[in-house]
This record gives sequence, C-alpha cells and structure tokens, in this order.
Amino acid sequence: MMKSFFIISLSTFLSAQSVAFTFDDGPKVAATPLLDPVSRNAAILNHLTSRGVQGMFFVTLKNGADHPAGLALAKTLGEGGQLLANHTVSHPDFNAEATTLETFQTEIQGCDAVIRTLPGFRAYFRFPYLREGATEAKREGIRAYLRAQHYRIGYVSIDTCDWLIDAKLQTKLEQNPALDLSPWRSLYLGHLWERAQVYDRLAKGIYGREIPHVLLLHHNLLNALFLGDVIDMFQAKGWKPVSAEAAFADPAYQVEPRVLPVDGSVLESSAQALGIPLNPYFKGMRSERRIGEEAGKL
Ligand SMILES: [Zn+2]
Repeated sequence: MMKSFFIISLSTFLSAQSVAFTFDDGPKVAATPLLDPVSRNAAILNHLTSRGVQGMFFVTLKNGADHPAGLALAKTLGEGGQLLANHTVSHPDFNAEATTLETFQTEIQGCDAVIRTLPGFRAYFRFPYLREGATEAKREGIRAYLRAQHYRIGYVSIDTCDWLIDAKLQTKLEQNPALDLSPWRSLYLGHLWERAQVYDRLAKGIYGREIPHVLLLHHNLLNALFLGDVIDMFQAKGWKPVSAEAAFADPAYQVEPRVLPVDGSVLESSAQALGIPLNPYFKGMRSERRIGEEAGKL
C-alpha cells in the first residue's frame, strides 16, 4: 500500500513540469529552400496532432492570411484542432515611437476581423517582439483597449531564437541544398532546452513553485522539420505538453507588470516589477548573438 502510494507521488513529482507550444507570425506563404507553404503547414500540424498536442498559433495577417491561400492554411490548423489567436496585421513594434496607440489598435482590429470566425479562434493577443509599450500612456492604453475587446495577453514564459536559427538554416540551404540537417537539429534542441531550464529556474525564483510554461516558437521551416523532435525532447525530460489555454489559466499569466519598457518574457517583466535581479538567472546562458554565431558555423 505504502509502496504504491510512494511510486504515484514520485511520478507526479517527476512530471510536474508542463509546457504549451505556441507559434507566432504564421501562416507564412513565402517560399523556403525546402518544402512549399502547404507542406510546411501540414508538417507542423502533423507533428502536433500525431502527438496529441494542441498548439496556439498567433496569426500575423500580412504573412499570408490576408490572401485566400494563406487563409486556407490558418483554417487547416483550426480544423485540425489547433487554436488561433491575434498577432496583428503587419507586426509593428509597439515600443517604437512611430507606432501610436491608435494605429496599434487598428492593427489588432484588422487581424481580429479576419481570424475571429475561423475554427479554433481564441481571444488572445500577443505583442510583436513581445513589446508592450515604452511609455505609461501606451502601456496602460493598450491594456485598457484589450480588456474592452475581451482579449487577454498571450504571454510567453520561455523566449527563444528559433527564428534566428531558421533564418541561418535557410541561407545555408540556399547555398547547399544537400546540407546535413542533423547538426541543426542538435543546435536547435540544445538551445531550447537551455532556455527552458533558465526560465524554469526564474519561474521558481519568482513564484516558489512550478508554473505551466508557454514556449515561444514560430511558424517556420525549422519547426516544419524538427517540431516533432522538440516535443519528444520535452516529453523525454518529463515536461508534459499542455494547451496554451490551460497554461494561461495560471495566475503567472494574469499579471500586468508596471515596468517600462515592457519587453520579453512575462517572467522577465514580472521579476523586474518585483525587484528580483535577472542577472543570476541569465548569467552563462548563450545569447542570441552566440546562437547566431554557432549556427553560422554549421
Ligand atoms: Zn512575431
């Protein structure tokens, strides 16, 4: 009796970590050196559905969904059981002085008008570049606007540079279509695991407990190739995939940090708001520049 109880408790403890997979900027219809847009979208969807994982896709309209071919890809994701959310029309930087509160609201509205009727739509908004405002007026103005529109912020806990590895990979593939992909897979998985551990320690430092994580990835060639390996890696490490909606139910995602500028993972801005120094957590983590350099050597 005692023995089986112990085993159940231990396995619960070992699988305490969980992670939601979210994908920004898609669906993309631009050409890539491998796979056409329909195949890339289908590959990403298949990696998820074959593992029973529900991802959330933050749509940027101008990357494709403003035309029938791109809209069809978004619809395919929704019909395939994935969730769709808002990532503006044209991906402006809200922290930039040139982006006014009014134009940014129009950006949110324009994306909403197209994706709201699609299967799998959820009223979550993710800020391009994770930038939520560099002045108090804009930060509070957009938060009030989102509340009035019944939108919630689609925060990220684990920030990554999959987009950078993807860009480097595409450049190399253009030069050499027979490129060996296995070192790219290793670099990508190693990078994600390093980031996941750093942000998980930060979450525990802030909250003194595990939080369900929200991983930022992109709708790109890299994930069309390796997303299955990414999900398998997290599961092998004991991290259970959860839906982004389930993760967002955690209080860690129901915050409005009053820092300026708001930029990056919600854990970074929450720590800043609480006066928790970030340096001890990020010290030693490979930077974006370092990852770019490592990719450049492959
Ligand atoms: Zn984006």
